[in-house]
Amino acid sequence: MSDNISTIVCAHCGTEVPAGTTVCTTCGKPIPQKKWYSLKGLNAAEIFLAVLGALMLLVGLVAV
Ligand SMILES: [Zn+2]
Repeated sequence: MSDNISTIVCAHCGTEVPAGTTVCTTCGKPIPQKKWYSLKGLNAAEIFLAVLGALMLLVGLVAV
């Protein structure tokens, strides 16, 4: 389940390519990497820290 391969759709020609592909295999245009994909590159600790940071910010806003 955690190993399912995600795909992204080329904005230029609509071809589905594996996530992480930088150049479309069909039209050869560069494929912009989405933010959610770069998140997957983070390890669990980094994601935890990011969530913790966001929570702290939220708590800080509510406290004030
Ligand atoms: Zn394409």
